[in-house]
Amino acid sequence: LKALEERLRNQKLARRIVEKIHKLAPVAVQRIGQTPIKIMDFCGTHEYTVTHYGIRSLMPPEVEIVAGPGCPVCITPAYYIDIAIKLSMEGIRVYTYGDAYRLPGSGKRGRDIRSLEEARAAGGDVIVVYSILDAIRMARRDKKPSLFLAVGFETTVPATASPVVAGLVPNNLKIMNIHRLTPPIMRFAFETHKDNPIRGVIAPGHVSTVIGVKSWKFVVDEYGIPTVVAGFEPIDVLLAILEILRQHIEGRPRIVNEYKRVATWEGNIRAQRIMSECCEEIDAAWRGIGFVPRSGLAFRDKYSHVDAFKQYGIKELTPDEWKYDLPPGCRCAEVTLGIVKPTDCPHFMKTCTPGTPYGPCMVSSEGACAVWARFGGGG
Ligand code: SF4
Repeated sequence: LKALEERLRNQKLARRIVEKIHKLAPVAVQRIGQTPIKIMDFCGTHEYTVTHYGIRSLMPPEVEIVAGPGCPVCITPAYYIDIAIKLSMEGIRVYTYGDAYRLPGSGKRGRDIRSLEEARAAGGDVIVVYSILDAIRMARRDKKPSLFLAVGFETTVPATASPVVAGLVPNNLKIMNIHRLTPPIMRFAFETHKDNPIRGVIAPGHVSTVIGVKSWKFVVDEYGIPTVVAGFEPIDVLLAILEILRQHIEGRPRIVNEYKRVATWEGNIRAQRIMSECCEEIDAAWRGIGFVPRSGLAFRDKYSHVDAFKQYGIKELTPDEWKYDLPPGCRCAEVTLGIVKPTDCPHFMKTCTPGTPYGPCMVSSEGACAVWARFGGGG
């Protein structure tokens, strides 16, 4: 593993790939008649690699890398955080992952408490866990009425669904299933860039291990965009960019799996079965963006006994009720859709910092604003 890691961070190799990118980029621009060639790195971890290793600063002017909506915490609507805060103050124990713990809600409920972290400081019952299994173990032990905040993309859904399907969730623990699905939001992102289209996608490696490389076929078939499922080391990302340019020059967009060491065409069939046994697709809200068709999951009726919406009488958000849920001036929705850069936000590193996040993209380690704050934007 160490040898593989060294190879994927090898500076000489990186330099050679960057040279090729510089050579091919003007040819690709000539071929497609668009400059710069806009490439979306969908996943928050890819944005981390791009920024941490200064990959943007190594690119020729013909290549622009934009961040994508691949941070599940950033896009979790404030509505659900408000509800979790309220329940935590009313005697329901809330179990949450660490990165959602500091996620701001709207601040309109629970005595202007903005996050679960603040709720806990004000006496709310909130516990940070590493996994749903921790929540199950503690709920069994403490017998308290509890809620698990199930946030995440397809990578985390099987972990939530497995104990539900296996009947391991105790009666006193209910789950707020607010998982989101990545292919529908990618489609949505393409539509928002229609006037200045995305011309390459670095597709998420982790998500692809679950749903399969096949899930991105629509990107090529319907939009004609070169797509590379890539790993998270700098060489992975550089190779993905080079491949996208090559495809433009050849005039033959296709899907390439650069992350063969982990992801397969079909993905994890067993995980997919558990997900579909447990959950069904629903139209769902994304923070600052609104409702995206079939982009969320809800428990199937046979699992309604674990469903916090049904068991705690929580109303699901509807498109009519959804309200713009970012704080004034926060440009998080545009950041996550790759329309603006974090530095375009007037709050960036002024009223919004990793220590005092004002908007959701500054909270999670995968949020583009938090990544740019730590590593300076990467050129
Ligand atoms: Fe939102 Fe803060 Fe990012 Fe601005 S810097 S877009 S306020 S998270």
